[in-house]
Amino acid sequence: MGAVWNVVKRVQSNVSLQGRCDADVAIVGGGITGTTLALLLAQAGQRVALLEAERIGCGATGHSTGNLYATVSLKLGTIRRKWGDEVTREVANARRTAVDFVQQTVDRFAIDCQLQRCPVHFALTGSDTALEQSLDYELETSRLAGLDAAKVDAIPGLSGLRRALRIEQQAQFNPLAFTLGVAQAAQQAGAQLFENSPVRDIDAGRGVLVTDGGEVHAGQIVHATHTPKGINLLQTAMEPYLEYGVAAVAAPGMLGPGIHWLLDASCSLRTYEASGQHWIVAVGGKHKTGEAPANGQTHQRLRELLTRHFNVSDFPYAWSAQQFHPADELPYIGGAGHANVYVATGFAADGLTWGPLAANIIADQLQGVASDWAERFAARRFTPAKSAGNWMKENIAVARHMVGDRLGIEKVATLEQVPAGAGRIVEYQGENVAVYNGAAGIQAVSPVCPHLKCLVQWNAADTTWDCPCHGSRFRPDGSVIEGPALLPLAPFGPS
Ligand SMILES: Cc1cc2nc3c(=O)[nH]c(=O)nc-3n(C[C@H](O)[C@H](O)[C@H](O)COP(=O)(O)OP(=O)(O)OC[C@H]3O[C@@H](n4cnc5c(N)ncnc54)[C@H](O)[C@@H]3O)c2cc1C
Repeated sequence: MGAVWNVVKRVQSNVSLQGRCDADVAIVGGGITGTTLALLLAQAGQRVALLEAERIGCGATGHSTGNLYATVSLKLGTIRRKWGDEVTREVANARRTAVDFVQQTVDRFAIDCQLQRCPVHFALTGSDTALEQSLDYELETSRLAGLDAAKVDAIPGLSGLRRALRIEQQAQFNPLAFTLGVAQAAQQAGAQLFENSPVRDIDAGRGVLVTDGGEVHAGQIVHATHTPKGINLLQTAMEPYLEYGVAAVAAPGMLGPGIHWLLDASCSLRTYEASGQHWIVAVGGKHKTGEAPANGQTHQRLRELLTRHFNVSDFPYAWSAQQFHPADELPYIGGAGHANVYVATGFAADGLTWGPLAANIIADQLQGVASDWAERFAARRFTPAKSAGNWMKENIAVARHMVGDRLGIEKVATLEQVPAGAGRIVEYQGENVAVYNGAAGIQAVSPVCPHLKCLVQWNAADTTWDCPCHGSRFRPDGSVIEGPALLPLAPFGPS
């Protein structure tokens, strides 16, 4: 089914890497971050090679909600409580600059991605006192950060609204269409883009990136892969979460324009119109990666929510995406690990704005230009007091999964004992095996994540194996979908 953003047709296909390619900068990952960086660097005359594992925009970018805002989805108050007033202003300023940059890019390259300015609503339908109070604090915080915010008690088309905080002049677009447009502009500016070219190994010291078909030799390497590939200390500072989206065919004007976060339902709503067709999108059902509900009903709950509020019944799109929540609430952007390696990660659910900002910061750094925001979001920052709570929570959870997930695994005499349609880890002939009994028959792979050896868990909604430790995700045949793992789950059976 995929995301509603796929209504745009890809007009361009890029070759996979074959043989050797030399570049000043190798960018791994063709989401909004990687393509924007490729454009900026190519415009500045750098030789750029971008390697995308599958298709441009197929990662979190093409499975997001397409909202752009200067605030953050967990509310600016979260940042203010941790960092104080000055940093809160700085965050909102940086993010407002990034939203404006996206708008300028759309205008400059005439990218048809239905970008429009609209308000953000943090909305309450129930009477939760704590949430009500958080809205008051958010109003004060948004104003302190220079945002045009006010309380409202109606959103056109949304029944049962109790109260909402409204922030003016934010934006929405089709994130896939934008990213494809940026990729095309980058290519026209001279960047080399390679699709279906997963990077399997990175030797930062030699500046060599290896794919199945070739090698890129580059002075600088950027992990624009949502979370850094391979082993990187930053992975211990981020919690991976999965979230789900559905889109229903809608009538024009069924819901007013804007980004509508329903705080008590923990989901967001928006509309989307392209080529005369209209949809309502709902995104929510967030849970820690690797801890998916066993009944796989995540998309169904969103469909039910939409049918409760609107007269809709046709749901042609359903999708999911992952986010990486940073321990101290700010993204990690810039040099990390080896001297020639850069990362852009920890974007939580706000990376359509953080990504372009990261691209601007890293482009400046690679050209030796001072950047206004580099220090604030530096990936090498050390913030133990602000990170400790979330860091402890995440790493206790990792330790729990490392040990607990290996206990109580059911022994089976044949792999066919896994019920039809189910995915299970079983003990078979003395070995643990991840088995999916799907339409293609039994698919059996090792359950050990090649990243740091945690056991993957079954996600019935997505039919994927998800690693609860650092967010690597795999298809039933073991191939990597996303996350830090560079290699697939090992096949099970006679080699
Ligand atoms: C449900 C959901 C909704 C969201 N909605 C919003 C929103 O409305 N607004 C917002 O600001 N943010 C949103 N976000 C967050 C946002 O989608 C992400 O932060 C952002 O898209 C990240 O962009 P990226 O380019 O850094 O990563 P990605 O888009 O994930 O791109 C990384 C790319 O790297 C490629 N890659 C990975 N490994 C390799 C490899 N080994 N070799 C080569 N390529 C590789 C992947 O295939 C992928 O294409 C949402 C997140 C979720 C989970």
